[in-house]
Amino acid sequence: SLPREINDPAVIDRAHMFHPGTHLADFASGELPSQIITGGEGIYVTDRDGHRMIDGFAGLWCVNVGYGRTEIADAVHAQMAKLSYYHAYNGNSNEPAIELAGRIAGMIGLDMNHVFYGLSGSDSNETNAKIVWYYHRILGKPEKRKLIARQRSYHGSGVLSGSLTGQPGFHGLFGLPLPEVIHVSAPHHWLDAHPGETERAYSRRLAQELEATILSEGPETVAAFFAEPVVGSGGILPSPEGYWEEVQQVLRRYDVLLVADEVVTGFGRTGAAFGSHLYGIRPDLMALAKGLSSGYLPLSASVVSDRVWQVLEEGTRQNGPFIHGWTYSAHPVCAAAALANLDIIDREGLIENARDTGAYFQQCLREAFGNHPMVGEVRGVGLLAAVDFVEQRSPRQFFDPARRIGAQVTETARRKGLIVRSMPRIDGIGFAPPLTLTRAEADQIVDIARSATQEIA
Ligand code: PLP
Repeated sequence: SLPREINDPAVIDRAHMFHPGTHLADFASGELPSQIITGGEGIYVTDRDGHRMIDGFAGLWCVNVGYGRTEIADAVHAQMAKLSYYHAYNGNSNEPAIELAGRIAGMIGLDMNHVFYGLSGSDSNETNAKIVWYYHRILGKPEKRKLIARQRSYHGSGVLSGSLTGQPGFHGLFGLPLPEVIHVSAPHHWLDAHPGETERAYSRRLAQELEATILSEGPETVAAFFAEPVVGSGGILPSPEGYWEEVQQVLRRYDVLLVADEVVTGFGRTGAAFGSHLYGIRPDLMALAKGLSSGYLPLSASVVSDRVWQVLEEGTRQNGPFIHGWTYSAHPVCAAAALANLDIIDREGLIENARDTGAYFQQCLREAFGNHPMVGEVRGVGLLAAVDFVEQRSPRQFFDPARRIGAQVTETARRKGLIVRSMPRIDGIGFAPPLTLTRAEADQIVDIARSATQEIA
């Protein structure tokens, strides 16, 4: 038999797995340990040493219904046995994907009635960009090609979606962003507002920046604006008062389509069904993934408004089929998982729970951290929250980034049985627990996070 270390999954992991977003040299040397998760139940995950932790980040803010849902497993099993796969090209279809498309359209409303399926948030944004380009071409404006996104945003890791992402790490060494993509400021009132500037005034200033960018690029060249209703991995930044009102006026003025990236905010995360509902956003296109299937199987959707759809239909009248798609578009098994997931969300009132327990959780976080000398800001909405660390509150002074305070608090919390997400962009920690969270579980998360912070302070 082989020596134990050759059979050791951690050794094979180091030797053969190429992990995303990982320091490869530290992982190969063992300085960054392999962290193998072997089980999940409710809001808990367990690693292979039997260490049980609350998953305060729902995987990558996707396991919205929690782990171990046998009804999703049963639906997947039944669908696989009945029809494991068939493609959706050229009018081919399958029952779960059809039912799901109707369900998604019904949940969103807003005259968004057409659902194109993919497998990841990244690919849904690739699709959205191509729809935008196709739309303007059909309307005789092929020069309308530039895509405006925001700094701090995250829209994916593909060549185009990674270009839309407004975080430098996704660009430099890959030779991105593509020249079509331009970034403007994302709102972060606490960090960027002028002294005494109200949220409304700040929102107006950012809308003016957007307008100035469109004018300097030439409105006839600007195709679309991509934005998350709440900036996610760039810092968990709820939109300030008036922001969407102002921004949408600018976009309408220059015929710039609005793509709402609801990959994180969709399906209840903010306490509303969609971030667009929360903020009064009327998107032309929407990106969905994560909470659509709670990560049980990969699934994403690009949802198209009726206004854009009419142009796409006309495009095919003139040119023949819309030549875009994936082998796994409308995968019946993924759709069956998503339907079972949406059934749970409905039956258990998880959107309402995200709103109500979310409000309680936000209040507990503010009580625990609001006056902490090491905390700059506590912010969030629904079951989405962040705590930023500062060396000194007033005048504001940040920690030397080399101290990695957010990462240290994250590591300490993990030892104490809580997974939160280290957010290096803000030197803070992020929370996005499953939407099943109870008040008692919210208390536990806040207690562990506070004691981990005390240990690092
Ligand atoms: N858009 C947003 C807002 C996201 O947060 C993410 C992933 O975190 C994506 C897009 C990309 O999704 P995926 O990782 O499934 O490609």
